[in-house]
Amino acid sequence: MKVAVIGGSVGNLAAAIRLAREGIEVSIYEKREHMGGKLRAVQLQGYDFEIGPTMVTAPEVIEAFITSTGRNIKDYLEIRRVRHHTQNIFPQTSSFFLSSDRAFMRKQLQKLDAEGARNYDMFLAEIMKMKQAFEEIMALPPLIAWRQLLMPPARSAYLTLKPFETLDHFVRRYFTNEEVISSFTRYASYNGIAPDDAPALFIIHAYDELINGVYYVAGGNLRLVRALQQIAKEEGVRYYTSKEVTKIHVQADEVEGVCLNDELSLEADAVLMSVEDFKAQPQLISDAEVLLPDPMKPTGIAACVMLVALRTHKQIYQHHIVYSKDRVREFELLKRGEIPDDPTVYLYNPAFSEQERFMRGDALLIFANMPYTANEQLVETMKQRIYKKLEEVGLKLEDDVVTKQVWSPGELMTMFDQYRQSGQVKKTAQYLLNPVLKDCQLKRLYFTGLQTHPTAGLASAVKNGERVAKRMIEELSVKKDGYG
Ligand SMILES: Cc1cc2nc3c(=O)[nH]c(=O)nc-3n(C[C@H](O)[C@H](O)[C@H](O)COP(=O)(O)OP(=O)(O)OC[C@H]3O[C@@H](n4cnc5c(N)ncnc54)[C@H](O)[C@@H]3O)c2cc1C
Repeated sequence: MKVAVIGGSVGNLAAAIRLAREGIEVSIYEKREHMGGKLRAVQLQGYDFEIGPTMVTAPEVIEAFITSTGRNIKDYLEIRRVRHHTQNIFPQTSSFFLSSDRAFMRKQLQKLDAEGARNYDMFLAEIMKMKQAFEEIMALPPLIAWRQLLMPPARSAYLTLKPFETLDHFVRRYFTNEEVISSFTRYASYNGIAPDDAPALFIIHAYDELINGVYYVAGGNLRLVRALQQIAKEEGVRYYTSKEVTKIHVQADEVEGVCLNDELSLEADAVLMSVEDFKAQPQLISDAEVLLPDPMKPTGIAACVMLVALRTHKQIYQHHIVYSKDRVREFELLKRGEIPDDPTVYLYNPAFSEQERFMRGDALLIFANMPYTANEQLVETMKQRIYKKLEEVGLKLEDDVVTKQVWSPGELMTMFDQYRQSGQVKKTAQYLLNPVLKDCQLKRLYFTGLQTHPTAGLASAVKNGERVAKRMIEELSVKKDGYG
């Protein structure tokens, strides 16, 4: 039994490990020079940057996965907690920290939002209920049609997710202070979606930030990829980089192999890849007449990303956000395709937790939402506005820059296959129906990947990889015994 896996992402590595442990022959083909998908390293003049996922959440999922392979996580990687992980800075007055320390959060709220302080436990209780409901739906066999959500066994969990409420409305039920509201609605705005357009479901992010905690991998989050790669190797998975799958061979309605770099055809009993990659590359199956209901397109609101190496260390938290004075106007401009004059700026500073890795100075990942464009002049203007915005709150970076790199939304799209569809507003049901584990039209084509999901993350990629592998093992063992 042979499985071809397209892409060396975290989710695919987890699935490959699980399949290999069942005696299945697994080969991973990654088109880039490195494994790890969106999680990747960049070096600039000796400074180490990591781009893509910056926040590690639910480490227990990663640990449980490694333990289930008969290994001890300590032999592979160390995941550490960041206590007060996010500082939200508001131009006029205060700053508001996010932490999973409830007493600390209540104390802060008492100063900023007395009603919010009283409501805080109820707020967390509702988030926990929603998280549980979400997990219940994820554990069901894949739901394909909207009406399935309104019927048992999904119905009760679906309604708990407040499908008809916006994120903004949800947060305002508990808090009155606009700065606190901005901090808890950024789960949408960070993704380029206005909080009053986003479904309440986005609040599930707060489960990790405020209840379960935020973490990082000692030595860099990329070590998670290295660990999974090592385990995959030990389990006999073969992986190849710089090998692009250019075609999935299909006979009638069954997958029967892949073609590498338009040259080499290889047989496979099943193929596994990320659902977003599949939607973005319809040419992979153009010979087969398969209807793609929801092809991926670049969307209006994207981001400008800057990597900035400093010769000093600044007072910047692991996750650090400097808010626009007027977030409603910021989104009005973004929706009209204009760059915001006063942007909200997001910073990631790994030196906050591991200064020993950054002796020369901070290596900052900075980004702000901007319309989708490859226009260099607009990107330069955006860069200047980001610096100006940071300067307003006392973060004068320009004089201390050793080197930097700026990526336009267009470049990001090319470099990272940015199909995340930032800025695309969906309803709750669309998020729940999105994670299709197996394509309905082609037999033995399986999917990982939940990047467009509001709760997407490295841990959920691992979980999803395990889930699809389990399904494949069940179905493919039927084939091994004579079917197909
Ligand atoms: C900007 C951004 C920020 C994020 N921040 C966080 C965060 O803070 N915390 C968190 O936990 N998660 C975060 N995520 C989500 C996280 O990145 C993903 O959940 C994670 O990368 C897992 O993705 P994946 O396994 O679905 O695939 P991906 O990481 O997308 O990997 C897919 C791989 O397939 C390869 N590939 C595609 N097509 C082919 C082909 N035809 N042939 C060969 N190879 C191919 C690609 O090169 C890539 O390596 C973020 C995502 C983005 C985009």
